[in-house]
Amino acid sequence: MNLHQQFVKLGQDHKIIVYKIQAILPRIYNEGIYKKYADDIYEYARKYAGVSSGVVDKIIHTYTKIADKPALQMAIKTAGIHKVALVANLATKHNQEILAKKVCTMSKAAVVQFAKDTRGNTNDTLKIELDSEMQFLFNQLKPENMSNKEALRQILLGLTQNTKPPQSKNFPGEKAKSRYIPAKNKQATIHKTNGKCAFQNCHKPYSHIHHIKPFSESKNHHPDNLMPLCKEHHEIMHNGDSKTDRMYQTYTQTISSRPWPTPMVLTGMPSSS
Ligand SMILES: [Zn+2]
Ligand SMILES: [Zn+2]
Repeated sequence: MNLHQQFVKLGQDHKIIVYKIQAILPRIYNEGIYKKYADDIYEYARKYAGVSSGVVDKIIHTYTKIADKPALQMAIKTAGIHKVALVANLATKHNQEILAKKVCTMSKAAVVQFAKDTRGNTNDTLKIELDSEMQFLFNQLKPENMSNKEALRQILLGLTQNTKPPQSKNFPGEKAKSRYIPAKNKQATIHKTNGKCAFQNCHKPYSHIHHIKPFSESKNHHPDNLMPLCKEHHEIMHNGDSKTDRMYQTYTQTISSRPWPTPMVLTGMPSSS
């Protein structure tokens, strides 16, 4: 083992020990064990394990939020307090196991992004005032005996389904043998989002072309099955779960139905057979 390998190995061992310390500190605090050995929990944590008071605060504060969520308590041991703290506010008794799995498998940057996306989408209602002309138009489209909300949903759904231009069919690689994405498809996909990550409000440049239906199953490189994603959103997409990630699923549906660039834009692209 060379010096670098030794260093990396020690770093990994260190992490394991730090996470174990973080995982048992709440019990030391809650059961008052520290009182016998120090004036307060901060002194205790610093003296016996070199834990800073900021981290002690974070551990205690996070733990109160996950007191009834054993899966997330366990996750501290595998993923550390900082990642668990990121999702503590989002946790319920029902999603805690899914969240625990996420923090244990995803990188910190992806957990940060996931928490941000989820927070941004809770209680997210948009209120629109309709003036008299808009009300008139709406009432013309609205089916009888249907609530306003449901009617608007149906109208919007109809619109998104009809905006798919026919040229979206002219792409190679719908039954592909190779993982290689034809350049034309790739460029059309990137063009849809101007080279940015496909996620709403994410303005990072794309770094991966993601297959909405996994290539291993679909063998489909059609741009409708592709979406450009930043590193973090790509990681999130690969740690998905149908229950908590409905917002991501809805999003992959809307990205598929985004309008295609006009043929004029596409002519400049290298054709691939
Ligand atoms: Zn992917
Ligand atoms: Zn992104």
